[in-house]
Amino acid sequence: MPLIQEIRRHHNLAELAREHGFRLTTQRRLIFSILESASTHMNAKEILAQARRVDPGIDQVTIYRNLAVLKKLGVVDELDLLHLRGDQHYYEARQDRPHSHVACLQCGKVMEFSSPAMDKISTEIRDELGFSISFMRVEIGGACAECRRKTPLTSPQTKANQNVSRSKKLN
Ligand SMILES: [Zn+2]
Ligand SMILES: [Zn+2]
Repeated sequence: MPLIQEIRRHHNLAELAREHGFRLTTQRRLIFSILESASTHMNAKEILAQARRVDPGIDQVTIYRNLAVLKKLGVVDELDLLHLRGDQHYYEARQDRPHSHVACLQCGKVMEFSSPAMDKISTEIRDELGFSISFMRVEIGGACAECRRKTPLTSPQTKANQNVSRSKKLN
């Protein structure tokens, strides 16, 4: 069940945690609120840096331990984002709607994209396989618009576009 519905169903995160046999400690709440308000996907180091502004005594081990609990609760997802930056993993608060990560393999930019088509796919999976989807994630790698402009020759798609504009000129 998507996070928002899950929290609504349990009234709050504390109750959800209790049902799973965990306590919602101040540190867990802090880490979750950092991820919930984050505008990008954050790695454990970035989470630590932000958490220290509120709780200077918190350390990296505590961050990892609490992230593991939040993952077990199904309110945080761990992502490798196509290993664009080596072995680093990223975290995000689970979102209400399925979304895909569209990652540029050249500059490492990661964009989020969601479409009604994804809802349609999950409905089809449910109907055809009788499967209940807890989460859905689609990772897409390629070249972003900016990188395509900078290095047009490396992208076959750009070449195709250039051919179109060339033929337009000839007409
Ligand atoms: Zn790029
Ligand atoms: Zn995301």
